[in-house]
Amino acid sequence: MQDLDHLKQRVALLDYLRRRHWTARPAARREEFVGLCPLHRDTRPSFYVNARKNLFYCHGCRQGGDLIRFVELSEHLSFRQSLTFLQRQGVPADDDGVMERTAAFYQLQLHRHPEAVEYLAQRGLRDPALIEELGIGYASGGNLRRHLAAQGYPLDLLLDIGLINQQGHDAFWQRVIFPCRQHGQIVNLYGRSVGAAFPHRLLPRPKGSLFAWESVRRFSTVILVEGLFDLAVLWQVGFRNATCAIGTHLTPMQMAQLSGRRDRCVYIVFDQDENHAGQQASLQLAHSLENAGVAARIVHLPPGHDPNSYFLDGATAADFAARLQGAQP
Ligand SMILES: [Zn+2]
Repeated sequence: MQDLDHLKQRVALLDYLRRRHWTARPAARREEFVGLCPLHRDTRPSFYVNARKNLFYCHGCRQGGDLIRFVELSEHLSFRQSLTFLQRQGVPADDDGVMERTAAFYQLQLHRHPEAVEYLAQRGLRDPALIEELGIGYASGGNLRRHLAAQGYPLDLLLDIGLINQQGHDAFWQRVIFPCRQHGQIVNLYGRSVGAAFPHRLLPRPKGSLFAWESVRRFSTVILVEGLFDLAVLWQVGFRNATCAIGTHLTPMQMAQLSGRRDRCVYIVFDQDENHAGQQASLQLAHSLENAGVAARIVHLPPGHDPNSYFLDGATAADFAARLQGAQP
């Protein structure tokens, strides 16, 4: 029954119930949640879920058991049928909305922390509508765990996703947060340190699609940059065809996205750093794209610049357009 264990591990009882709009509050005991029983006509919360053990018990109808038992009772299915039923459900990429909740929480925090808004301004990002559109938030640190626990999310889930570290602290401290989406769902969060700490951080999970690919894919000409601030300043001056892989390394999925259209031309604008790492990465990527049948151009900025610093240094949209024009195949 290896499949069975695997299935139970993948689908947590609490997640399953929440997806069916079961609302609960933390019970007195740690890891326990209580709410109205979905199995009988309940007037006062008598249905308990132990999130760690993945078990439920109702003090009203005296039913209890694991996820499969719950499906048997609630869907009136046999054990076998319940298994098939669960296998068909799959698991949502967003672990039941926890990433959305987190991003929304950070987004609210942004406006409570002037230092974060000030940091965005320093990076050249001043348009409030664009900040809103990109879903940018701020993690001050130290308040996410409490916020999510109050909403009934079990600590195990937060640890699994990496929002909370092994010491029980928030993973993101003093970081500007960009939500990374895939097919509309948030699959990761990128945190840029506003202080001296290690600047870039993603959650330990796939970085997902090319940034904002849902809106960029309609363009036949695409600008590929390294960082999210590069993308933000380009969008701000009207280059809405800019996307970002967060770094110079593209995942197979991101590669497939760029090469999904034969008439596409990709302008690669990586950092022009001293050690030529960006230039090397640009060349390699251009070759890979050409091999995949997509035209690629490498865009050169003045030495030491990336698109973000280029615009901060006073460049205009026309200056950047001229750089694109001068790009070599
Ligand atoms: Zn009950």
